[in-house]
Amino acid sequence: MDGKIEAVIGPMYSGKTEELIRRVVRRNIARQRGVIFKISSDTRNKDENVISRAGTSLKATTVESARDTLKYLKENMDYVAFDEAQFFGEELFEVVNLFVKRGTDVIVAGLNLDFRGEPFNNVMKIVAIADEIVLLKAVCVVCGKDATRTQRLILKEGQWLPASLNDPIFKVEGEDVQIRYEPRCKDCWKVGDNMAKVGKHMDVTPEIYNDGKEAKGVEKRVLISPKDGAPTFIMRHFTMKAGGFTPHHSHPWEHEVYVLKGKGFLRTNEGKKPFGVGDYVFVPPNEMHQFVNDSDETLEFICVIPKSGN
Ligand code: ADP
Ligand code: MG
Ligand code: ZN
Repeated sequence: MDGKIEAVIGPMYSGKTEELIRRVVRRNIARQRGVIFKISSDTRNKDENVISRAGTSLKATTVESARDTLKYLKENMDYVAFDEAQFFGEELFEVVNLFVKRGTDVIVAGLNLDFRGEPFNNVMKIVAIADEIVLLKAVCVVCGKDATRTQRLILKEGQWLPASLNDPIFKVEGEDVQIRYEPRCKDCWKVGDNMAKVGKHMDVTPEIYNDGKEAKGVEKRVLISPKDGAPTFIMRHFTMKAGGFTPHHSHPWEHEVYVLKGKGFLRTNEGKKPFGVGDYVFVPPNEMHQFVNDSDETLEFICVIPKSGN
């Protein structure tokens, strides 16, 4: 029989670790065998226990990655538990499923949302297949209402201010004195103003489109998007190898393109429209289009779309 998945989610301070411990203690009373896993990148408590802020604690096993826990698969445990599941990365989903197939119950405790209010995808994928979901709430430290959000604060010139979207997601509480977290309700929770920044397009990891049918030889780099705090536009940088092309398609948003290097043509319903360095290209909403590099050099262009185009 497959194991069951219990997902315990909520903001920081909502009692996820406390609930995980409570569930494991009950199972231990029932003489079940199992392990609690925590990940070594969670530097908040370095000892071998999971500790809740309420003061309860239980013995845990520290692992380097979700995959590391697979050596327990052959032991036919009754249960395994993952605390701070958001730190276990994308592979946690597959690992949880392997335990489940083995007949082991899995308890997963973790944050549903990051400080920006964006879902932790690895946690939410497990929630989607869970047999039981517990959404816990903390107490808003500002107003005392139920807190569903985690506020990140940054110490700037002696003042604790809401962190901005530019900040990285993973900072463990206690590791950096400049940052702290507190539970807040939706009304008191804020994402700070975003700082202006300068970046190099080559430092952005590209998405590659190269199946040879839909698209060929295309690298897309999202330079500026809502993730950076841009509310309206997304700026992308495209590199297209000689002989490359983008999909021949249409969509309800426009393309505003500026050509940086090389040449090629836009395929439209009225035929080919050639372009080269220094040209702009406008594709209105709902018009069939395809960018083609029919030259023997690499083509590079900037393409701006509205946020709704993502
Ligand atoms: P989590 O794992 O979700 O971060 P813990 O299980 O470690 O939470 O801690 C939950 C405990 O934290 C509560 O039972 C309570 O004793 C304590 N606590 C401190 N501040 C708050 C708060 N603002 N809201 C809720 N609980 C809080
Ligand atoms: Mg916890
Ligand atoms: Zn509040």
